[in-house]
Amino acid sequence: MDSGLTIVSRFRPRVDSARMPICRFLEVGVITAIAVFDIDGVIRDVGNSYRRALADTVEHFTQNAYRPSQVDIDRLKAEGLWNNDWEASQEMICRYFEAQGKPRAILEAGLDYATLVDFFQRRYRGEDLDNPDHWNGYIAHEPLLLQPTYLEALTKAGIPWGFFSGATRGSACFVLEKRLGLRSPVLVAMEDAPGKPDPSGLFQVLDQLAPASLGTPVFYVGDTVADMQTVERAKLLRPERQWIGVGVLPPHAQHSPEYREAYVAQLKSAGAAIVLDNVTHLNPEQIQAVQKALSAESTNL
Ligand SMILES: [Mg+2]
Repeated sequence: MDSGLTIVSRFRPRVDSARMPICRFLEVGVITAIAVFDIDGVIRDVGNSYRRALADTVEHFTQNAYRPSQVDIDRLKAEGLWNNDWEASQEMICRYFEAQGKPRAILEAGLDYATLVDFFQRRYRGEDLDNPDHWNGYIAHEPLLLQPTYLEALTKAGIPWGFFSGATRGSACFVLEKRLGLRSPVLVAMEDAPGKPDPSGLFQVLDQLAPASLGTPVFYVGDTVADMQTVERAKLLRPERQWIGVGVLPPHAQHSPEYREAYVAQLKSAGAAIVLDNVTHLNPEQIQAVQKALSAESTNL
């Protein structure tokens, strides 16, 4: 078990609504929809944490020759393959040197992945990597993009919720349990499932959250192309259920109207049914409205 799990209640009141009400929903059969959330860029703003650690890592391993901008990172993420920020860092380093004419095979052989991950993690978590109580890296200052009251409102409306994230379990538990005060929420993290866009982790969340809810629509809320592609693959593999991709604009994508528009278009072309400015706009009323709109759409086909 991650050591972050046991220290939560000292910092914030625990929210018990994650598990108990789900059992009650199953007993009385009132689940209206299921919401599964990505974490980075949706629950917390990682523009100045993961992304900063990524840029630091690329800068360090290119001997200060290249520091990727937010736009550079978005361009890479738009390919849909680079949800893992350690792999994304490695890729950006390789691409930088490749552009200087160096063969990729030699670059990959010369770059020790474990050393890269260690450098990244020390920037992100801090020097005491394994003790969340001492984490004082960028992770300690991530702005939260929702509050527990938002999740409580979903529970009250008969909408169970959980998380599927490419973040490490330690990092995900830090934000969910230590910072938001959630108590053992349903979470599938990096160590638990293949990376997105493979939807296995999403299926795992549903199996834990509401195993007997086959007919219930699932909303998966994410901020990247890979998140929306995950939903598209889920549709192909489990067509008996309705899957709805909800795009959320991460804060860094909202700095200019042009960039915002391009980011929205990208998420929509990857499959997003709607794109929202903030995760909390996906409230029970909005969920119901989207369900209605989609069923009207399918009736008109
Ligand atoms: Mg994300």
